[in-house]
Amino acid sequence: MQATEMRISRRAALLRGAGVLAGLLLTETLVASKPALAKGAKSEFLYQDHPRGGQSCGACKFFFADTNSANTGTCALIEGVINRNGWCTAYSPKS
Ligand code: SF4
Repeated sequence: MQATEMRISRRAALLRGAGVLAGLLLTETLVASKPALAKGAKSEFLYQDHPRGGQSCGACKFFFADTNSANTGTCALIEGVINRNGWCTAYSPKS
């Protein structure tokens, strides 16, 4: 292989590598910037501020208690403040 051919193929390899690297960075950026799934409105899940048939948010796997309030928290699926004694159609008991 002559020096010119070797230089061209090295350049081609570097360009190809740079293209692959750019593609990986772009993919990683797109994945990292993808927004989390939006939470639904309380009305969509028929949320109510009281239990139903012994089921309540406090016993649901989607409930996260507030650190400064024993009776409220947030829900992984539903937006807004959630009452520990509330309930909705997405109720799923903690395992
Ligand atoms: S999914 Fe429904 S029942 Fe469970 S915590 Fe959220 S609002 Fe409460």
